[in-house]
Amino acid sequence: MSEGEKSLNFIEHIIEEDLKNGFSKEDLRFRFPPEPNGYLHIGHASSICLNFGLGLRYNAPVNLRFDDTNPAKEEQEYVDAIKKDVAWLGYKWDHECFASDYFQKLYDWAIFLIREGKAYVDSQSSDLMAEQKGTPTTVGVASPFRDRSVEENLDLFNRMKNGEFKEGEHVLRAKIDMASSNMLMRDPLMYRILHKAHHRTNTDWCIYPMYDWTHGESDYLEQVSHSFCTLEFAMHRELYDWFLDQVYDTKKTRPKQREFARRNLSHTIVSKRKLLKLVQEGVVTSWDDPRMPTISGMRRRGFTPESIRNFADTIGIAKRDNLIDVSLLEFHVREHLNKITTRVMGVLDPVKVVITNYPEGQEEWLEIENNPEDTESGSREIPFSREIYIEKADFKEEANKKFFRLKLGGEVRLKGGYIIKAESCTKDTDGNITEIQCTYDTKSKSGSGTEESLRKVKGTLHWVSVTHAIESEIRLYDRLFTDESPDTHKDKDFMEFINPDSLEVIKGFVEPSLKEAKVGDGFQFQRMGYFNIDTDSTPENLVFNKTVGLRDSWAKIAEKK
Ligand code: ATP
Ligand code: MG
Repeated sequence: MSEGEKSLNFIEHIIEEDLKNGFSKEDLRFRFPPEPNGYLHIGHASSICLNFGLGLRYNAPVNLRFDDTNPAKEEQEYVDAIKKDVAWLGYKWDHECFASDYFQKLYDWAIFLIREGKAYVDSQSSDLMAEQKGTPTTVGVASPFRDRSVEENLDLFNRMKNGEFKEGEHVLRAKIDMASSNMLMRDPLMYRILHKAHHRTNTDWCIYPMYDWTHGESDYLEQVSHSFCTLEFAMHRELYDWFLDQVYDTKKTRPKQREFARRNLSHTIVSKRKLLKLVQEGVVTSWDDPRMPTISGMRRRGFTPESIRNFADTIGIAKRDNLIDVSLLEFHVREHLNKITTRVMGVLDPVKVVITNYPEGQEEWLEIENNPEDTESGSREIPFSREIYIEKADFKEEANKKFFRLKLGGEVRLKGGYIIKAESCTKDTDGNITEIQCTYDTKSKSGSGTEESLRKVKGTLHWVSVTHAIESEIRLYDRLFTDESPDTHKDKDFMEFINPDSLEVIKGFVEPSLKEAKVGDGFQFQRMGYFNIDTDSTPENLVFNKTVGLRDSWAKIAEKK
């Protein structure tokens, strides 16, 4: 095996094998086929990165195909959201396709199958049909309608289409094999009656094709060469092939279905249906709630497309289902934000510091680097004055030698500014510290070149000037679920594992430059983590989301257990 081949995943091996066997590279074509019945989640991101990644690798077109065959659950809102998400992840689709564009073609093919004696109208109840299916170890029972004449089938199917029947009165089934060891081959449904308006075809149709009948034929119509889906469709492959056999023209590309493992992320769920429940029951505020594992939720939270793509790349494609720890995703987010974000000052749990030897009413602007990781990012100025806020946790009256922050009689450097020394503090009647009085070393300003400015003190604290700081709303998030895989418990519903403390809203103070920030902009709050501006933010009331911490605090907690 050459060096290049080693890095191929098993999906790429399948393609390489086909190319070796004479399949033309120009005929490679892929698709990403979401059902517009919800917003895309991190699991879909894997599938998007796989399919569009293959498109880039082989310079082949990738279609975005909406699998819109169930008008009861699908909506235009979801179509729009899906397009936005795929584009945001950084991918360009070749054609925007809809299974509903093929309704007429599928109908014509269904007529063809009826004529060929390979499809029939069944008029039994769904319960009865289910009973007759048999079990994997016992053969099924043929429907009494299985041998209807072609004429009768054509007539009934036409009347189904014309809306003469109620839902459930008749269905169209493929006539395959009621004794097949694959239950899906036991005369599967091709059409059912649904008197529902479709978000694109409106009331043109009241019969809708089933997934299996639609998917392979859509792939074929689009001349998709490789149709990748998740493992639960492995048993469907035989049916996918059977349906293709009925219509396939040997001069054309015959699509090939192959399966890969679904991606599951710890402490969350990846199922549109279940995520919808969280929205409907008000557990979260919306599909794009920053706690949601949806692409829109992650975007609002401050995750970047690069970090999600890097995550998908790292976990790769697997043959078996497995659970990926969410901290791996957070690692990639942190890694990318570290490179691109401006370092700013934000104090989340403030206590006031008065610098008693700094003249009242005086202010000065201190130059501070925007991002030491990025030499091109430049610098800006932040205001300093007699009164500042620091974090409560950064001061103790007394502390041992390992406490490198501020203590009475001790010194710290204010990031980008002066060295201060704590002289005394004031407390309320409950003993809470309400103010700290400090003095500053007048010659110690960072970067001023004096001997004092080079003086080393152990701790460096972030801070904001009281008169200049902007009071802001800050939203802190924790895992949405307390359990690692909330939807895998046999005896408990996933809703039982909702973390009641997944959102905490606090008031903090940020430096004035953030007044100019726009929705979506991301920052590193010095020493506190990565934050971005939420969509609820206004110039009068800034709202920040905590995107992710600076370190993996969750791993540390898990270690202690
Ligand atoms: P959901 O249950 O969330 O609706 P789905 O598989 O029904 O998931 P689709 O809209 O049909 O959702 O999926 C579009 C594509 O994304 C399919 O090819 C599907 O296999 C893939 N996909 C969905 N969920 C995952 C996942 N967790 N990991 C990897 N691929 C996924
Ligand atoms: Mg689905």
